[in-house]
Amino acid sequence: MKLRAEPESKKTKTKKVPSSFLVPSFSFSFSFLASVFILGWFSYQTVESEVKGLLLKQLSMSLPRSVKIFKIWEEGMKDEAQALASNPKIQKDLSVLKDMFDATSSNGSLIPRDEDLKILRRDLRSSLENFRFMGFVFLDETGFCIAASEDMSMGHRKIVDRLGRRFVDLALLGNTIITLPFKSEIETPDKSGVLQKDLPNLLIATPVYNEKKEFLGILGFRVKPETIFSHIFEIERTGESGEIYAFNRTGLMISKSRFEDQIEKLGLIKENNSILNLYVKDPEVDLTQGFKPEKPISEQPFTRMMLSALAGENGHDLDGYRDYRGVKVVGAWAWLPEFGFGIANEMDYDEAFSFLHKIETWFYILFSFLLATSMWTLYLSWQREKFHKLMIREKESAESANAAKTEFLARMSHELRTPLNAILGFSQLLLMNPDNKFSEIQKSNIEHVRQAGNHLLILVNDILDLSRIEAGELVVKMEELELFPLLDESIQLIQPLAKSQNVKVECLISKEDGLMVRADSSRIVQVLLNLLSNAIKYNREAGSVIISHENGIEGKVRIKIQDTGMGIPKKKQAEIFEPFSRLNIDKTSVEGVGIGLSITQNLINVMGGAIFLESEMDRGSCFTVELQKPIAK
Ligand code: ADP
Repeated sequence: MKLRAEPESKKTKTKKVPSSFLVPSFSFSFSFLASVFILGWFSYQTVESEVKGLLLKQLSMSLPRSVKIFKIWEEGMKDEAQALASNPKIQKDLSVLKDMFDATSSNGSLIPRDEDLKILRRDLRSSLENFRFMGFVFLDETGFCIAASEDMSMGHRKIVDRLGRRFVDLALLGNTIITLPFKSEIETPDKSGVLQKDLPNLLIATPVYNEKKEFLGILGFRVKPETIFSHIFEIERTGESGEIYAFNRTGLMISKSRFEDQIEKLGLIKENNSILNLYVKDPEVDLTQGFKPEKPISEQPFTRMMLSALAGENGHDLDGYRDYRGVKVVGAWAWLPEFGFGIANEMDYDEAFSFLHKIETWFYILFSFLLATSMWTLYLSWQREKFHKLMIREKESAESANAAKTEFLARMSHELRTPLNAILGFSQLLLMNPDNKFSEIQKSNIEHVRQAGNHLLILVNDILDLSRIEAGELVVKMEELELFPLLDESIQLIQPLAKSQNVKVECLISKEDGLMVRADSSRIVQVLLNLLSNAIKYNREAGSVIISHENGIEGKVRIKIQDTGMGIPKKKQAEIFEPFSRLNIDKTSVEGVGIGLSITQNLINVMGGAIFLESEMDRGSCFTVELQKPIAK
């Protein structure tokens, strides 16, 4: 396995950190959220105005379409009535009845002959059925009913009393008229065929002339408004709650309500018939939610729509107002002066804006999610900042403690070196002075003092180096060097150790190889001595150390120191470069403190090189030192 020690910076510096990154995080989160909100709000506004535009179009366009259908129906009805009135047979029948009436009316009574009336009724029967007319009346110019499909309609002016003279006058001018729904003056059959008072009718009235073009009277046909008139307004309604309805100038509904079942349960109408029974008034509370109106219907105001329409306005309201059920609706309406009634198109507010409400809900969900995420991120940032500040404080206190330790070590090492050098110098003087007549035992003792002093000096120097490295104060003097003399010097210096350990040191590098490096000469020797002494110390009895080189790498020189020692387990290979790491060598007799390789690696790194380790258990280790070649000129 190859292990490369990464170069470290020459001087350890405290990393500069921003005083607070919570403020930028907060500003960013706030700006982001504000942007999302503003953007979302503008998008929502755009969608809202778009939806409102479409809704208004849908509501307003239905009104003219309904009027158009109404006109088509009206024309058809008039044509049918006129066709019947110009039928010669009918004209003849009516002429007979009219003559008889003229002859008898002077004494104030009408006694139509049964046979003549029967003939008229028979002649009209099939047409009445075909055109879904309920019945007919034949009126004179005063509105007096001369003949009719039912006996109870005849002999009075009740129909004019109910409808007013206007339709008679218009018919006298030759017009065919369709009246608005009115409460019938006679009992008419309801849905189940039972005769009922005040049921809604409308009348199609047309003048009748004889063959000499003389006015005979007004022929009117009764129609139930719920048969077709009311259905006309149902054609254009949309959605679940959209309804179009017509109303007269008194504010009464004259077409069927879409909600007849519902409003009957709410007590607004009786017997499921809203035509002419329902004032379009605002109950001021939502009746469908079970609220009871405070005022009786007579005192309730008309709905927002009705007030505007009765004032002759065409209008719309998309902000919402209460309809006759008290439900919030949007609507468009028009007053139709030519017909004398108004029509409204309304839809429940909730349905009309359901799409918009969905968007609004999603927008709020999304915004809440973003808000929660931002809050969470801010909380994490706050926590991180707290942790970061704590780390900085701890780092600073560790650094100051380390600086104090380094200074102490540096001073102590320096103080120790002076007496140590004295011990070494004087012990050497004692041994070298020929005048000293020491016994062999005394000489050996002095030699022990010298060796111990030497060892202590190396240790003190190593500790001083380590403290310099940790303080980032290790300075190297880089120069172009010839490698061989340094290698040779190192081998010479290590020879006594090699001999004492019975290890053979073999160098395969010669002067002729001409290896040049860019490094600090004394530090190179220090590195080589360290690696060589390890290769000898951790070797086996009669082992060997081979020094070789590799020259193939661009700009680099590699020196290999291969031993035949016990090897280093793979798991521990990274560990040995840590200070004071000795693996389990402590338990053996090999001397050392475990800082040599740490210093070696730092020295090589500072000189811009690298160190690799390859090792195999029981076969040996190979340390490769990579150094820079001199820069080519
Ligand atoms: P020291 O030699 O003072 O213990 P070093 O830092 O030089 O400290 O070495 C650290 C450890 O690495 C040694 O204690 C030893 O266990 C291991 N080591 C170093 N060199 C070798 C080698 N050539 N062979 C086997 N083990 C080695």
